[in-house]
Amino acid sequence: MSQLQQITVLGATGSIGLSTLGVIARHPERYQVFALTGFSRLRELEQLCLKHCPQFAVTADEHSAAQLQGALRAAGLSTQVLAGAEALCEVSAHPDVDAVMAAIVGAAGLQPTLAAVEAGKKVLLANKEALVMSGDLFIQAVRRSGAVLLPIDSEHNAIFQCLPGDYARGLGAVGVRRILLTASGGPFRETPLAELEQVSPEQACAHPNWSMGRKISVDSASMMNKGLELIEACWLFDAKPPQVEVVIHPQSVIHSLVDYVDGSVLAQLGNPDMRTPIAHALAWPQRIDSGVAPLDLFAVARLDFQRPDEQRFPCLRLARQAAEAGGSAPALLNAANEVAVAAFLERRIRFPEIARIIDEVLNSEASTAVESLGAVLAADARARALAGEWLNRHGR
Ligand code: NDP
Ligand code: MG
Repeated sequence: MSQLQQITVLGATGSIGLSTLGVIARHPERYQVFALTGFSRLRELEQLCLKHCPQFAVTADEHSAAQLQGALRAAGLSTQVLAGAEALCEVSAHPDVDAVMAAIVGAAGLQPTLAAVEAGKKVLLANKEALVMSGDLFIQAVRRSGAVLLPIDSEHNAIFQCLPGDYARGLGAVGVRRILLTASGGPFRETPLAELEQVSPEQACAHPNWSMGRKISVDSASMMNKGLELIEACWLFDAKPPQVEVVIHPQSVIHSLVDYVDGSVLAQLGNPDMRTPIAHALAWPQRIDSGVAPLDLFAVARLDFQRPDEQRFPCLRLARQAAEAGGSAPALLNAANEVAVAAFLERRIRFPEIARIIDEVLNSEASTAVESLGAVLAADARARALAGEWLNRHGR
């Protein structure tokens, strides 16, 4: 490769952001960090800037930007520090940027991710909430701009790897019968149902196989993560919800599978380490070293599969309901979930109440067509208000 690729990492201080920078650091001959963004972890962002010397850094507000700017200048860096949501969009759409890692968590990532899409960048999508919220608008923007959208979510990255290059012709046209989306089942796969009322945020965040940010860890425990991923798969691969089957696979070695009409089932396997999908998407269609240890099948020894239990995991049923309803329903689902998960992490509600809040929001707000970003943001705000009302009504 003759020229260094310029990379913006949105959410650089998070779990995916750090893994991305780990892969990038292994290939200084290919990649250069153009911009790094953080939100609350200012010290970490400073350390990352000192290591990767980006042209831009983005913080939450002017105050933290001035603080970081001072520290970086004192260290002799020429990094320019910007602040706020608009600056996130600027460093995503900047003409010098080749690829954007979209790794902000939740709805906060929607606009900067869309900015990268609209600017026709190579977009490495970890921020599944952005796609879940805006669905059709997001995919239309990809088509219009010619952006290259590559999934980072390990399951979707696996599916992408198991599909033929021309899958955009339609799953039926390329002989796909269905997509098998694997799920670990999280830390509460076998916890007695009655005990779920008492589980703590620490228990919910103690994922058996993956080390991740707190929000997605709770989503994995409730299996809302798989629900969001079901919706994500429908948009990425133009699938209908019934074409995507969720399979619990506790070892997290098979990252997902594609079932073809001739009876062939293709799977992608690997150690549960996000550096594999990150390296895959960064270098695609080439392959580069990710730093992940080779898979030792003898150590894995066995692979188990189970059908998910929707009584244990009502969030999965709610997400399927939203996927079927379409329109604004996925944005309502996502926003209600974000409010509920934050309340659970703050110990204001019990774990099973996450699903109760989402259920109430979905049932009290009809799904409407979403033809603009404004409509998506309105649905998001409405669901947050309804979830907030639930919390007030229950004195939380
Ligand atoms: P983390 O919580 O570890 O990181 C989130 C990042 O987003 C941090 O850099 C954080 O900044 C930043 N951030 C948070 N709120 C805002 C905001 N309002 N505005 C701007 N930036 C903000 O999350 P993960 O890395 O685990 O997850 C990131 C995304 O990737 C999520 O959408 C998740 O679903 C997806 N994903 C993650 C996987 C994983 O293994 N972790 C696997 C598959 C998908 P700061 O820390 O400075 O506050
Ligand atoms: Mg995943």
